[in-house]
Amino acid sequence: MAVAGRWGTEMTHQFDAVVVGAGGAGLWAALELSGTANTAVLSKLYPTRSHTGAAQGGIGAALGNMEEDHWEWHAFDTVKGGDYLCDQDAVEVMCREAIDTVYELEHRGLPFSRTEDGRIAQRPFGGHSREFGKGPVRRSCYAADRTGHMILQTLYQQCIKNQVRFFDEFHVVDLLIEENVCRGVIAYCLADGTLHTFRAKAVILATGGCGRMFRITSNAYALTGDGMALAYRRGVPLEDMEFFQFHPTGIYKMGILITEGARGEGGVLRNARGERFMERYAPTMKDLAPRDMISRFIYREIREGRGIDGQDYVHLDLTHLPAETIETRLPDITDFVRTYLGVDPVWQPIPVQPTAHYVMGGIPTDLDARVVIDEKNTPLPGLYAAGECACVSVHGANRLGTNSLVDILVFGRRAGKHAASYVREVELPPLPRDPQARARAEIERLLANTGDERPIAIRDELRRVMMEDAGVVRTGESLQRVIEKLGELKERYARVGVRDQSKQFNTALLETVELGYLLELAEVLAKSAFAREESRGAHYREDFPNRNDTEWLRHTLAYRTEKGIELRYKPVTVTTFPPQERKY
Ligand SMILES: Cc1cc2nc3c(=O)[nH]c(=O)nc-3n(C[C@H](O)[C@H](O)[C@H](O)COP(=O)(O)OP(=O)(O)OC[C@H]3O[C@@H](n4cnc5c(N)ncnc54)[C@H](O)[C@@H]3O)c2cc1C
Repeated sequence: MAVAGRWGTEMTHQFDAVVVGAGGAGLWAALELSGTANTAVLSKLYPTRSHTGAAQGGIGAALGNMEEDHWEWHAFDTVKGGDYLCDQDAVEVMCREAIDTVYELEHRGLPFSRTEDGRIAQRPFGGHSREFGKGPVRRSCYAADRTGHMILQTLYQQCIKNQVRFFDEFHVVDLLIEENVCRGVIAYCLADGTLHTFRAKAVILATGGCGRMFRITSNAYALTGDGMALAYRRGVPLEDMEFFQFHPTGIYKMGILITEGARGEGGVLRNARGERFMERYAPTMKDLAPRDMISRFIYREIREGRGIDGQDYVHLDLTHLPAETIETRLPDITDFVRTYLGVDPVWQPIPVQPTAHYVMGGIPTDLDARVVIDEKNTPLPGLYAAGECACVSVHGANRLGTNSLVDILVFGRRAGKHAASYVREVELPPLPRDPQARARAEIERLLANTGDERPIAIRDELRRVMMEDAGVVRTGESLQRVIEKLGELKERYARVGVRDQSKQFNTALLETVELGYLLELAEVLAKSAFAREESRGAHYREDFPNRNDTEWLRHTLAYRTEKGIELRYKPVTVTTFPPQERKY
């Protein structure tokens, strides 16, 4: 249906299900839906450019191809890695279904690296152990260091085969929720600047992470937390946003990721004295301890003056490995390091520093990826979330390497399955009156604003303050600084003006919209972190250095209210593994 209006022709589309995001989570959800439901995927990027394509290291699944392994061991490692904040029922589902998910991907055409006898090859990864913590196990299934790329290609091909409708470079700017039922989304078409209404029985948010709020990050430009911010603005709480993972090995100053697979293949971290310092901090797992710990210890080495040349980085050393291992098992990162640093990892150590990598928190969901809106896990009919934007809480306070790909695939698939049956049962809900009103008003405000505030200046300040004061190490004082700064930046954002007025490919406009999301999410992160007076996983408070299970073994839920952010809490589901001290 087309209606002529001030915005040119306003299009309304109708589908059973609309998936927002074409990363691994969105594509698998769409694939699952496509058999029975009329399905559209809306993506602000061309699908195969989604960040899933950047995943290098692999997918964790207890196939046991290299040595004995069990999904229960995987579950234990995940819970311990998450510093006991994971919901253990969700972890059990994930680790059990990981195995079948990997085989399904294989059968759908993913070219995994192989063992000599032709089985899927597996390598060790941080925090993954045998027999509940007795030393590393090889669990990560990989396709060289291009695992994510292969996942995207495989799933995209299958979606095309199944006639999923793709709307590429459609930027979703609002979520239609009325009377507690989700009714669709509004999207801005990058090519011609028109707004489109997508009416649907089910919406699945699979929009990925929000690492662009930090100065040094491994995350692609598009990771601005859109889905999280849109849901939050429409009354959905955000869970556990204070837990943001810093990956220990980003290329110095650039943040580009060097996969943990490099340490899985035998790489080690060294300080200015050439010491393998992780031996001191984690005698069993050493360089394969979980990321939160390694990032913190790198920070400590640097602060105690043992950074290389007194600077804020350490070395990742692969030089003792055979050149062939480096070239064949880690070809892409070897190429990055040669290209961006002019360093040859075969002969020279690589300068690295922690880089903002992954948001453990997100839109709260249940085991079927239905979005839930309160402490009692009440679902919001018609709305689903899966992948990095969601928080079913399988990662708790710190995610293990390879577990995000598992999460996006297992829960992307579950979202698709549940939504497929849901759309069979319900009628298409009516649209709200003037569904585009809010999106239109916001865009018109940004375009009309002639204010002198430049979005780029605000963005740079946001990213600086988040890196310095809400990063690897925090204190009440540093978080207070962040909160004050964000107050100021939000005021300035209200006066921001977009100079580019063009209808076609107005990326300046969309970047400004995205900046609004980042500011909002940064505030949720800082306030949730300020309230949590303990240290757990990736949330490390120097003023409260210990974990406090008596008071803080609970999930944060942050709501947007007229009076500002309201924090509530909900219990953690503990089934098999009672909280213990975390040693590696
Ligand atoms: C460099 C790097 C390496 C990694 N390596 C690994 C690894 O080896 N193993 C592992 O387990 N994890 C890894 N991770 C993490 C993992 O890759 C991600 O968490 C995961 O791929 C996220 O998938 P997703 O489907 O949730 O979202 P993404 O793949 O990020 O996709 C998000 C999608 O949402 C769309 N989108 C966003 N906003 C909008 C909007 N407003 N409107 C329309 N569309 C929108 C985008 O176009 C995109 O299609 C890595 C991450 C990085 C950054």
